[in-house]
Amino acid sequence: MFKKLLIANRGEIALRIHRACKEMGIKTVAIHSTADADAMHVRLADEAVCVGPASSKDSYLNVHAILSAAIITGAEAIHPGYGFLSENAKFAEMVEEHGITFVGPSSKHIKAMGDKITAKQVVEKAGIPVVPGSAGSVDSVDDAKKIAKEFGLPVLIKATAGGGGRGMQVVREMSELEELYKRARQEAGSYFSNDTVYIEKFLDDPRHIEIQVIADKHGNVCHLGERDCSLQRRNQKVLEESPSPVINQEVRDEIGMIVANAIKDIGYSSVGTVEFLYENGQFFFIEMNTRLQVEHPVTELVYNIDLVQEMIKIAYGDKLSITQDQIKPQGHAIEFRINAEDPETFMPSPGTILLHHAPGGYGVRVDSALYTGYSIPPYYDSMISKVIIFGKSRDICIKRAKSALSEYVIDGVKTSIPLHTRLLEDPTVLTGDYTIKWLEADFLANK
Ligand code: ADP
Repeated sequence: MFKKLLIANRGEIALRIHRACKEMGIKTVAIHSTADADAMHVRLADEAVCVGPASSKDSYLNVHAILSAAIITGAEAIHPGYGFLSENAKFAEMVEEHGITFVGPSSKHIKAMGDKITAKQVVEKAGIPVVPGSAGSVDSVDDAKKIAKEFGLPVLIKATAGGGGRGMQVVREMSELEELYKRARQEAGSYFSNDTVYIEKFLDDPRHIEIQVIADKHGNVCHLGERDCSLQRRNQKVLEESPSPVINQEVRDEIGMIVANAIKDIGYSSVGTVEFLYENGQFFFIEMNTRLQVEHPVTELVYNIDLVQEMIKIAYGDKLSITQDQIKPQGHAIEFRINAEDPETFMPSPGTILLHHAPGGYGVRVDSALYTGYSIPPYYDSMISKVIIFGKSRDICIKRAKSALSEYVIDGVKTSIPLHTRLLEDPTVLTGDYTIKWLEADFLANK
């Protein structure tokens, strides 16, 4: 196994990776910006290297400084976590060129899946159902009109390089198509430095359901069921759970095997997530994430597997330690994303934590890098903690979650805990009968 691994990330995910490494006897190297000198991931790691000033582009995205840090410290592998460089094919390639193992898929797969048009083409060929839409890029207003007529309104214009739920335009009337098409391209250009867009049918009322896969470098692939991430605001996930309240074992087996076979077919290795919209009993692929996801813990709890350790072992060249027939979901897990933000206005709320007291007890896991006295810097993502609840049933999970969230003390900044608490009181959340629109169009609109 690797002796030393560099963690190219910060916050809770850097800690999550550090803990996985400790258990495996791997020494860790943290990287950090000047703004994060006092961060928990820096304190816990065996070694730490400052890679630049506060701004992400000069530190956590500073490829040359990060590679130098790995070389100087003798790290044999780099784990990118999520966000930052985790889906940067060029970075993965450079890491490998320097004789260091990238803990993730090959740069070829990152590149193919990072371009959403290519991704749709690749997975469709491998047998995965996709959202109906343009065969490739849509390069003119006239083409956009043709596609919109062919598939029928509403349609969604999306950036091929898109991410984070940004830069999408829903077209409901032909008269607004031209303006929205131009806006989509312009936004794609400024957000992603690539103004290529494509069009797909806008599904009016789907759920978001994603399949977790795990594949080694020897052609062994397993799926680990689904996560339901239908509670979203601005196309971003608010809480996630496994199993989905609407998927039974038969459906799970069927879509899981379609995905696992496709992943084997394309020769992918590492962990990965294939995301679908699910409407009227049908799955429609939207994208594949070629990395560990924020919401991976719910799968870990329900399938009793350490995905981070598996990912590291796969990168090292080990074979999967499990086979599909050994994999059975047990119980239920829900993850609550805790952001440093106003729960009413959603404005970020960085600042100093005057008191941090995390909940605990049976079935309660907190993945966080917070501590009393820590100052949340304003430069990075506002997610500061994840509370993950596990129980025999969804009902038990919800009761346990209410109790855990009521115990959670984060003084000094505003957080999204009150939003979660309110969600857990809502009859719709209790029944599980909602779609991706519900949180914004119903719950927040009618409060
Ligand atoms: P990103 O990479 O920016 O997150 P995705 O393609 O994963 O983009 O989509 C993010 C979210 O946007 C989905 O979870 C869903 O809420 C919404 N969405 C994406 N495609 C469609 C579609 N064709 N119809 C309806 N909603 C969509």
